[in-house]
Amino acid sequence: MKSFENIDVKSVKEAVGLLQKFQQQKKSAAVVGGGSEYLQLMKDHVAEPDYLLNLKSIPGLDYIKEERGGFRIGALAKLAEIEEHPAVREKLLILSDAAGEAASPQIRNAGTLAGNICQRPFCWYFRSSNFTCLRKGGQLCYTVTGDGRFHAILGGGPSYITHPSDTAPALVALGAQIKIAGPAGERTMPLERFFVLPQVDYSRENILKPDEIVTEIQVPYPKSGSKGFYHKVRERLAWDHAIVAVATVVQSSGGMVREARVVMGGVAPIPWRAPKAEGFLRGKKLDEATAQKAGEIALEGAKPLKDNIYKVKMAQDLIQRGLLASV
Ligand SMILES: Cc1cc2nc3c(=O)[nH]c(=O)nc-3n(C[C@H](O)[C@H](O)[C@H](O)COP(=O)(O)OP(=O)(O)OC[C@H]3O[C@@H](n4cnc5c(N)ncnc54)[C@H](O)[C@@H]3O)c2cc1C
Repeated sequence: MKSFENIDVKSVKEAVGLLQKFQQQKKSAAVVGGGSEYLQLMKDHVAEPDYLLNLKSIPGLDYIKEERGGFRIGALAKLAEIEEHPAVREKLLILSDAAGEAASPQIRNAGTLAGNICQRPFCWYFRSSNFTCLRKGGQLCYTVTGDGRFHAILGGGPSYITHPSDTAPALVALGAQIKIAGPAGERTMPLERFFVLPQVDYSRENILKPDEIVTEIQVPYPKSGSKGFYHKVRERLAWDHAIVAVATVVQSSGGMVREARVVMGGVAPIPWRAPKAEGFLRGKKLDEATAQKAGEIALEGAKPLKDNIYKVKMAQDLIQRGLLASV
């Protein structure tokens, strides 16, 4: 591992100021929460920063609070805390379940929510120092001719990574907002708009600038009569990223859908919302045929690589299952 300097920052302001200073000095710097993802990238020589800013030394940024119609969750809240928090389990079960599906107990006890949302792709070409893939400044996304069995079937090209976060699809389905701090102050935006498709910029996964950090996630209470569901298919139960995951939140009354959100993980470079399927569901009685049709609509336009056509049916089935469980 290349040598680097670790700095235990004491405030968001200090972190942002240092990021700005290092950028002006043309030095590379990164922030870490739990470090469970980023330190692996460093060990694998994929990330080689000059400075590492440890955010865990900022006091009080790990809160989970209920306020003004929903939850405010600090960037440093750990996945295990979100999974086990009684009020989160009661009111945002889908988020609690998604956090509990991520990684292993050890990682969930160190890994933070912001780190989970901002983690880099777990594509084997990206993670290997033997390949200089498109996302690392090379010419090619090797999945096109190589092994793309776990890669994108929607929104891919020219890079075919899938977004690795378990919490992100659940949070998008819940209509969460993300708060970002930078030199010009703070801004809050829908989490859905935080992620970047490779056709816009294939070198990054989100809109964060080099001198910005995530400080908070805000999650509104689901509307009354809503039920949420998160289901993940993975290769190994002990710990693994999603091959396909589906988050559904359905608000219904008298068996009729008033509003539905369908968001997929593991199938696209960003958490992939299915607005056409959501529109189809509105006003319908949610039975097996409707749920099946919604799954088919959600996967319209899928363009599997040569090794991953199986994901289309898997995603359709999970959507169907999620919708039927949500009424
Ligand atoms: C073996 C293994 C299995 C895993 N399995 C899963 C899985 O199944 N599902 C899943 O969702 N994740 C998985 N992960 C990914 C990840 O480690 C965890 O989900 C964890 O939540 C990451 O949080 P962290 O605080 O440790 O992140 P870090 O490693 O500290 O950071 C991750 C990334 O986020 C950035 N970052 C961290 N905090 C901030 C912030 N406040 N603002 C801006 N950027 C920030 C860092 O710069 C880095 O790029 C796995 C990781 C490993 C090593």
